[in-house]
Amino acid sequence: MESVAFSMCLVPMPISLVQSLTNYRRRISKFVIPSKLLHLRVALGLPIWTPNIVLLKIAGQEILFEKIKRLAIQFFIKQVANGVHSPLFRQSSNPCIQLNKKDQEACAGLFADLNITFDQIITLPNILDVPHNDICEIHLTSFGFQDKAQPTALIKALFEETISEEFQDYFIIATDASKSQFYTSLAGTSNLRSFSFRIHPINSIFTTEALAICQAIDDLSVPDSNLLILTDSFSVLQALKNLSIKSPKVILRLAHKILMRAKLNQKIALVWTPGHSSIAWNERADSLAKNVTESDYIEWIAVEDICSYYSKFSIQKPTENFRNSKYLEILGELPSILSTALWLKNRREDIIITRILTRMIITPALLHRFGLHNNPFCSVCNQENTIEHILLTCKKYLPHRWIFCLKLNLSLQIFSSYKVFLFTICSSKHHLQVFLQMLKLFYIY
Ligand SMILES: [Zn+2]
Repeated sequence: MESVAFSMCLVPMPISLVQSLTNYRRRISKFVIPSKLLHLRVALGLPIWTPNIVLLKIAGQEILFEKIKRLAIQFFIKQVANGVHSPLFRQSSNPCIQLNKKDQEACAGLFADLNITFDQIITLPNILDVPHNDICEIHLTSFGFQDKAQPTALIKALFEETISEEFQDYFIIATDASKSQFYTSLAGTSNLRSFSFRIHPINSIFTTEALAICQAIDDLSVPDSNLLILTDSFSVLQALKNLSIKSPKVILRLAHKILMRAKLNQKIALVWTPGHSSIAWNERADSLAKNVTESDYIEWIAVEDICSYYSKFSIQKPTENFRNSKYLEILGELPSILSTALWLKNRREDIIITRILTRMIITPALLHRFGLHNNPFCSVCNQENTIEHILLTCKKYLPHRWIFCLKLNLSLQIFSSYKVFLFTICSSKHHLQVFLQMLKLFYIY
């Protein structure tokens, strides 16, 4: 834009002026606020001197450079999970994707935090059959016992009937996953063998259920027999039914395993069994998965779960920065504007509340700080006329405070500190609205 403006300028400009302008731009560019922060300030109606830490906290926003870093890393590890199918992999004769030094460090940091390595990421199978919808029999609602609304005794009886009538010549395997505060684990059991493993706790229950089925096909299946695999994960079976190239990697891996077996003319039927229905097969797999203390660890980790962990982590960063700053002591746990705005009627109210919450509302003391007012003191109390003084202690407003407390049935204790006061007014829509009513009687701008 700048160069266009210069070239279209018809008035001849001395070259020295152009140079000094560019130099000036270069010098001030160091101090220019990143545009996202500027946008946030404008959107929230906060003045330029609002600390960034407070601004990002009240906006409930991820820090921009953290977001850029996160997106780069997430893109990279998704490519790792695509393995040989990644276009980045193919374009290079060397099967290695390069990150710049900063991203490489950030990526290494993330992996070190999680205590994982690249080779643990679940990748797409190298030979990828075009996913199609009917890779095997998947029963989600085909049978009477799959109606969870029925009494458990009936579910159990109907289950046994279905198995003996529909699946007599199938070899039965049951799988399950479990997630507690200590372990994330998976298990599988058949009449011949069982297994149970712990896996990385970052894996979601969805990934773990899918991995349990993968492991069961590897460890428990018998040659020359059709397999009936029981699982209580409706979502995994649904994902398998709606297979596409965008499905989670673990689902594509599972589909690949099923297709490999189908090539050997062995059928697999996947049947959803409602959990907690006293079906003995389920209970066995469930208890195996829950009692994993002594069992082995397998190192698989889903890229989707790493990405969602990282997103959550990165979004929480402004909150953590705020908690570690001096502002926590003054302002308390600020709510995000996204939650308080639901209780406010218009932009004017949004702005007043964000300014009150960040202590950025214009008062004589604040104006004095910036040389815009000559008297920072309250004429009645002879104390600095800050927002704390006006709202919490100024003698002028004692009756208003009484009325406020009476209306909301509160004690005057709420005026003991600014953070207690903020916490109180943000506790409900009614509190906020009564506060906005009261504010009209105060001498603030
Ligand atoms: Zn006063």
